Amino acid sequence: MPSFNYILTVGLEVHVQLTSKSKMFCGCPVTYGSDPNTNVCPVCLGFPGALPVLNRGAIGGTLLTGLMLNCKINPVSKWDRKNYFYPDLPKGYQTTQLEKPIVGRGQVEIQLADGSKKNIRIHHAHLEEDAGKSLHDGNFRHGVSGIDLNRAGTPLIEIVSEPDMISAEEAVAFAKKLHSIVTSIGICDGEMSQGSMRFDVNVSVKPRGSDTLGTRTETKNLNSFKFMEEAIAKEVERQIDLIEDGGSVIQETRLYNGDTKTARSMRSKEEANDYRYFPCPDLLPVIVSDETIEQLRRSMPELPDARQARFVEQYGLSEYDAGILGSDAPMAAYFETVTDQSGNAKLAANWTMGELAGRLNNEDISIGKSPVSAEQLAGMIARIADNSISGKMAKQVFEAMWAGEGSADEIIEARGLKQVSDSGALEQIVADVLAANQAMVDDYINTDEAKRKKKLGGFMGQIMKASKGQANPQQVNQILLQKLNELL
Ligand SMILES: [Zn+2]
Repeated sequence: MPSFNYILTVGLEVHVQLTSKSKMFCGCPVTYGSDPNTNVCPVCLGFPGALPVLNRGAIGGTLLTGLMLNCKINPVSKWDRKNYFYPDLPKGYQTTQLEKPIVGRGQVEIQLADGSKKNIRIHHAHLEEDAGKSLHDGNFRHGVSGIDLNRAGTPLIEIVSEPDMISAEEAVAFAKKLHSIVTSIGICDGEMSQGSMRFDVNVSVKPRGSDTLGTRTETKNLNSFKFMEEAIAKEVERQIDLIEDGGSVIQETRLYNGDTKTARSMRSKEEANDYRYFPCPDLLPVIVSDETIEQLRRSMPELPDARQARFVEQYGLSEYDAGILGSDAPMAAYFETVTDQSGNAKLAANWTMGELAGRLNNEDISIGKSPVSAEQLAGMIARIADNSISGKMAKQVFEAMWAGEGSADEIIEARGLKQVSDSGALEQIVADVLAANQAMVDDYINTDEAKRKKKLGGFMGQIMKASKGQANPQQVNQILLQKLNELL
């Protein structure tokens, strides 16, 4: 039976690592890339008798996230211990929230490629602590495994969706929307390759017309949108093949390797009761007053949807451009700085989404660490806008800025890249080129009117060469046409 005879159901569990200065239950700093086991203390090492202290900032960030996701905030939430043994979990349990999470039901609207919109319901979001990291062969000394507990106790929000998505496209759109929201609030840096946001994908298939959901599997820890899309496609194919062959899907946890494009079973899926959850005796419930919620509501930053609408209104961008620039908070901020300082929104949008985004993407650098600052790009755009340099020269300037050669003005000066826009000088160059190429001029005059346009390139090439590439091409084009028309 082909795959269109099956209906796919996808639910997501999203781990969002908070950009908190300190850990969830102790004062240890949250850092990335420090030497192993340098940011630890008796609390996050799980020493007997060490008592947790709640991180107030993490609670605030989670409440704000809940509000941005249109979720209900629970006035009372509680802490539970999820018991399991793992080398990177020194306490033997993870402090999390099972019965009473801090954020309740809500929903998020996604937009699909065909322009249609859909609401994806949020089941809840809870706050918990991250585990440490095991370092195996390759990441550590040869033949030895090590444990790094710097990450142990880092605050994490887990956002759990309802199984409302019916395609990989919807799941990716939802994941991107969440990414866009949490980075807009600034509660997460959104660096997926560093694990700041990780996705667990629950997938099941059922024959079209059936009322019962199929058995689902969970593919864990996907850290890119592309891998998520691939993992879902592969898992759907695998489940359909299994069913078609007369087998059945087993509820299990799976891993997807984005480099080898292969998936494998990790373990059979545990139920909540396998973890022997029980209420944490060391932490009091969190009580959130209506006033606190109101206060947070008033401090809510601009949502991505609102920002996109504003970009259309304020800068005259197309819906498409506003959608790309507005959905990513750091990119939006970059674009606005470039626009403010260059006074040209259209060029700022083109360069930010085009040359800059392409280059950052290729080299896997986030816009926050761009070698070309917003101020530098604005400086270059100002020179394009006032006709000092052509678009072609700008590409050279951009390359040089990327390589760290300084500001646009410094590079233009050092390389002698001034564009000639003085019409008197340009007229002279065009006249000289026409005089020196009488055969080309005759050819142009004797060509059918409809085909003349094709002949212009030859003249343009000569003129640009004569001006050492510095003539303003648009102006040259005008002057050239005018002069040729006079000869007809
Ligand atoms: Zn600690």
